Amino acid sequence: MTSFAYTSGPARVVFGPGVLDRLPEEVRRLGRSRALVVSGAGTAGAAAQAAANLGPLLAGHFAGAAMHTPVDVTAEALELVRSLDADCLVSVGGGSATGLGKALSVRTGLPQIAVPSTYAGSEVTPVLGETDGTGKTTRSAPEILPETVLYDVRLTLGLPVPLSVTSGVNAMAHAVEALYSPDANPATGALARRAITLLAGALPGIVADPGDVDARSDALTGAWLAGICLGTVRMGPHHKLCHMLGGSYGLPHAPTHTVMLPQVMAHQAAKAPEAMRVVAEALKVRDAPSGLYDLITSWGGPTSLRELGLTAGELDDAARRVDIDGVRALLGVAYQGTRPP
Ligand code: NAD
Repeated sequence: MTSFAYTSGPARVVFGPGVLDRLPEEVRRLGRSRALVVSGAGTAGAAAQAAANLGPLLAGHFAGAAMHTPVDVTAEALELVRSLDADCLVSVGGGSATGLGKALSVRTGLPQIAVPSTYAGSEVTPVLGETDGTGKTTRSAPEILPETVLYDVRLTLGLPVPLSVTSGVNAMAHAVEALYSPDANPATGALARRAITLLAGALPGIVADPGDVDARSDALTGAWLAGICLGTVRMGPHHKLCHMLGGSYGLPHAPTHTVMLPQVMAHQAAKAPEAMRVVAEALKVRDAPSGLYDLITSWGGPTSLRELGLTAGELDDAARRVDIDGVRALLGVAYQGTRPP
């Protein structure tokens, strides 16, 4: 017998090439008139475009968003929100910009329009992870969910191939863990399967031609659907490990997901055979963990924690930070980048 509880978030999603041009009407739709654009390095062009589109609705621009949402950066941006008397937030960029927008929104009650430029999926989740130098603290609350998301595929055309690959696998991880989540249900199962299919279909096209609009559009659609999974059901050991590695050792978010996902899938395979069957089918491979590892290799993605900067001496300490059966051995193979059997 199937039984579950399902709650979906109330976000408004506008998707299509050029939807960034509709930013002013989306600000007005929220009843607001003084928008603060927040962004990080790497998306200066898109942020400038957003600011230009806003015209008289622009209150200012903060360009200092950083990975893992450090609280001191948030404090600096918060001063600007107050001094400019901003009445809404527009985050332009990857998960780092979205995270800063969420951190400001939850502190001020201001609404947020998220304009994503990667496949992180944070824009459709009510989850916020923040770092303060000692580790990462994650919280979830309905008011953290951005009110509006503008998915403009044009913003992703310049996402470099290595970032596209790792960010795409980051999105896949949300979908994979949704399949074996204790909260798994028919809606998230369907979204997860479709997300993995779209991402696996799109990534080879993006690697071959980063400007392929159709592949980019499929990847962004997959990222959205995977993000809904992340925001709707509890995530498992993979996300727990990646949060720990990012928060405690400063490892880069999406590359860490890329290294860990095939290894955690191999670790979970015996417990979640049906999920692995669905993933293998969506990836068009015979065995999900080793098949994904081979795909990541063929797309030029990273396979070991060692190449991301973790040291062998940190493995024992890292293993003590999470409560997962067999975690030391799992971190050991991920450190070496051994192909799952
Ligand atoms: P990111 O936002 O830090 O972006 C990675 C790099 O890519 C940055 O240097 C950025 O400037 C650059 N970049 C982004 N878009 C670009 C584009 N279109 N063209 C060229 N360069 C571009 O990384 P991310 O992987 O998107 O997000 C990671 C952060 O998001 C982490 O802090 C993570 O914890 C958080 N996150 C949160 C959730 C959630 O639900 N709370 C979900 C996923 C990720």
